[in-house]
Amino acid sequence: MNSPNNRIRIFDTSLRDGEQSPGFTMSGAQKIAFAHALAELGVDVIEAGFPNSSPADYSAVQTIARDVRGASIAALARCHEGDIEACARALERAESPRIHVFISSSPLHRQYKLNMSREQVIEHAIMGVTLARKHVDDVEFSAEDAFRTERDFLVELFNAAVATGATTLNVPDTVGYATPDEIRELFRYLRANVQGADGVVFSAHCHNDLGLAVANSLAAIEGGARQVECTINGIGERAGNAALEELVMALKVRQGWYGVDTGITTPKLLDTSRLLSRITGIQVQRNKAIVGLNAFAHESGIHQHGMLKNRDTYEIMHPQDVGWPASQLVLGRHSGRAAVADRLRALGHVLDDAQLDLVIAQAKALTHTQHVVSDADLLRLVAGDHGDTGWRIASMSLIDEGQHTRAHVELSDPDGHRVKQDASGDGPIAALFAALAKAAGVDFELESYEVHSMGIGRDARGEANLSARIGGETFSGQGTSRDVLEASAIAWLEVANRLLRSYAMQRVPAFA
Ligand SMILES: [Zn+2]
Repeated sequence: MNSPNNRIRIFDTSLRDGEQSPGFTMSGAQKIAFAHALAELGVDVIEAGFPNSSPADYSAVQTIARDVRGASIAALARCHEGDIEACARALERAESPRIHVFISSSPLHRQYKLNMSREQVIEHAIMGVTLARKHVDDVEFSAEDAFRTERDFLVELFNAAVATGATTLNVPDTVGYATPDEIRELFRYLRANVQGADGVVFSAHCHNDLGLAVANSLAAIEGGARQVECTINGIGERAGNAALEELVMALKVRQGWYGVDTGITTPKLLDTSRLLSRITGIQVQRNKAIVGLNAFAHESGIHQHGMLKNRDTYEIMHPQDVGWPASQLVLGRHSGRAAVADRLRALGHVLDDAQLDLVIAQAKALTHTQHVVSDADLLRLVAGDHGDTGWRIASMSLIDEGQHTRAHVELSDPDGHRVKQDASGDGPIAALFAALAKAAGVDFELESYEVHSMGIGRDARGEANLSARIGGETFSGQGTSRDVLEASAIAWLEVANRLLRSYAMQRVPAFA
């Protein structure tokens, strides 16, 4: 057995395994935007979807294959002719297309899912790989639930796949049951026993049911895997897949131990993670490794003292390595010009004096309705999304009426229009959103609504993130304030304003 090379292929399945899990559904346009971000991040393979599962998935895969360059585009198929033909058609215009065929291999799946014998499973695998190879040179074969499959049968199945032209063999721990030692040993066994092992790439696909997905993927690499399947933020079925950002940084920070490289541009990790959160409306937990808000925060006095003398005392990597600015600063009403300029520079924007004046004026205007101006607010201002084309909150109040709460809101727009409305609801949030809907003249059902507290004591702020799905598109809003109700109202209005702007844009052709 030759030793495999040292380049690990990063196969991202956020758009397939991730997207198919509850709460992470994306529209076609969002999938395409995210696929572009993955290509820029430097992933080797983007699994864009399962074309035969729905016309929408088919068309998303087709557009990604046509437009996204710099990564292989993979599409998933069962060992069925219809699935494989759909992949081939959807991938027609891809720069480097890959068809990923799979069939269940474990005794449990053979009996209860497929009702097939070992021989029948092998026959289907041979049919699937052969047909896929008629269309593309790059064929990945997955034995679903491989980890719980008898070893002799797994070798037999992989032998058949290699003999018929599979170029990547994927070994999923579909149910997240394995431990690192077992996975390492399984990969060593397969590399030693599958015929033609040296000519194919072995791939790990680990689920996180026991919180071991990243550890198991790293162990698979030690065992000889040279492709790992993962997702941004670890999204995926049930407890998710291995988190790409954690896996990649473990390989990078511990390069001396693993001795392998990836093609990932790690300073883009944070932006990619945040793009996914914005698209799905689901934030990562604060203490999430690499991309959580606390990942590089040093609060305790003892830690800060050490950090000031030498960052290595408590830091194994630099925040900038994964895309964080060197430090986080909360801009309040009294922050000066230099602080804003510094903060913008840290976020990657160097502005001339006139531009800086404009952003500062807009940021100051924001502080009338919110306590602090966050990085997200600043980035929005720089991008020219001033929020000054829609409604803003002039005032709001809530009255507890026993069984109900009554909310009074007053909105203003840049032309000086003001509108007052009130509404009652079962609780403060219901009352507030109902009053806002009456005042803004637009209503929608929320798809997600989350409130986070940031900081403690006098500096505590609430951050609200919400999203609504209207006409197949997701509109997200974010608000920050000392008061979580106000943060929620700001976030709600941001969605309303975006929706109103999109209506206005849609109306234009009617006048032309
Ligand atoms: Zn999976």
